[in-house]
Amino acid sequence: MSIFSTAQQEIAAQLTEETIDLSKWKDWQWQLKNCIKSVDQFEELLGIKLEKKLRMKIDLTVKKFPLAITPYYMSLINTDNYKNDPVFRQSFPAPEELEVFKYDMSDPLSEDKDSPAPGITHRYPDRVLFHISNICSMYCRHCTRKRKVGDIDSIPGKEDIMAGLDYIRSTPVVRDVLLSGGDPLMLSDEYLDWILTELRAIPHVQVIRIGTRMPVVLPYRITNKLVDMLKKHHPLWINTHFNHPREITASSREALAMLANAGIPLGNQTVLLAGVNDCPRIMKSLMQKLVQNRVRPYYIYQCDLSEGLTHFRTPIGKGIEIMESLRGHTSGFAVPTYVVDAPGGGGKIPLNPTYLISLSTNKVVLRNYEGIITTYKEPDSYEKIFCDRQCDKCELQLKLDDAEEYLTIGIEKLLSDHDKTISLTPKNNERMERRTS
Ligand SMILES: *Cc1c(COP(=O)(O)O)cnc(C)c1O
Repeated sequence: MSIFSTAQQEIAAQLTEETIDLSKWKDWQWQLKNCIKSVDQFEELLGIKLEKKLRMKIDLTVKKFPLAITPYYMSLINTDNYKNDPVFRQSFPAPEELEVFKYDMSDPLSEDKDSPAPGITHRYPDRVLFHISNICSMYCRHCTRKRKVGDIDSIPGKEDIMAGLDYIRSTPVVRDVLLSGGDPLMLSDEYLDWILTELRAIPHVQVIRIGTRMPVVLPYRITNKLVDMLKKHHPLWINTHFNHPREITASSREALAMLANAGIPLGNQTVLLAGVNDCPRIMKSLMQKLVQNRVRPYYIYQCDLSEGLTHFRTPIGKGIEIMESLRGHTSGFAVPTYVVDAPGGGGKIPLNPTYLISLSTNKVVLRNYEGIITTYKEPDSYEKIFCDRQCDKCELQLKLDDAEEYLTIGIEKLLSDHDKTISLTPKNNERMERRTS
């Protein structure tokens, strides 16, 4: 199969006056310059004509949530059955996006509330999300940050980035920085190099991660020059965002191989989307194709409660069914973690089918993926050690200069021996308020 498919050649020919060759098609700047941003152009290139009533609704939708798709990603649409095409569904506006339900929120993950500095979301104890770009090469219809898409179509200036860097520099608990956006790879190599260099100069930043959809929607962005720059900043991890096996093409494979060859561990975050990938067979095929390309499936996300996403949402049961079809049925490293990002900013909550059937003090009853029910005999002689957090006196050899003290919180705290807390009580609990008054 030629990388420069007939569909690609046709799209290219319609977009430019001159006939272009493969090298121009693979120029990511050309792809960006020729992004499709209007419904007319979309129709023309696909050779379709929407009926009038639908077209009016689509025009309204685009006013609220703009449209953009790269010529490359567009060329993946199967024109014979475009309405059900996974790429079409992820890129073309749907009138349902305008339906707002009472559970929908513009910022369901409270990212704006948990922001101590420009561009920073600090939610977890040891890591931060750093939004270094407000732009993307295409606008995913299922974007959780849909509220911001097309707002200020720009890349933050050095001053804004500097404020974020200052926060990270002055917050020593941050050992992992996740560059996100928008798409961080919309920045020039030089600008990104500067940010990565600044981050690397901070002693407590152990790991840097980049979240990008470029390998999916614009794989030509992964150039030798980019990869040579990235690999100067190890340990650097990249998470990408494939949602459907059809997105894994010769070009995206090449991009992934370049990144993996540069020693960058690759992960993938999939969003569970009704009408796109809410099928165990599609998901299994996707996960297997990812590992074939050295990408470790990392998360499957339950679709967020953002405005305009309701038509993409599935019940959580669909996600559990998918997890059931993966664990045991395929390679363990092809099985991601299924998570719900808690509305209100509680962070990611993992969900799994139930494998624990019952237990007594000496036996646990479990079931496996085939439905076999089995028992695990607990040890008769487990010596319980009361942990008082005096690690220097403990026989387990925790190397103390590498293991700084930290406060236990949440359920970890309830389980610990050294903390006297016996329960966690929500704030404003009426009964507790009666006690104090
Ligand atoms: C997802 C996320 C992270 C990273 O979480 P991991 O589970 O470590 O991948 C960090 N901060 C925020 C705000 C997030 O949403």
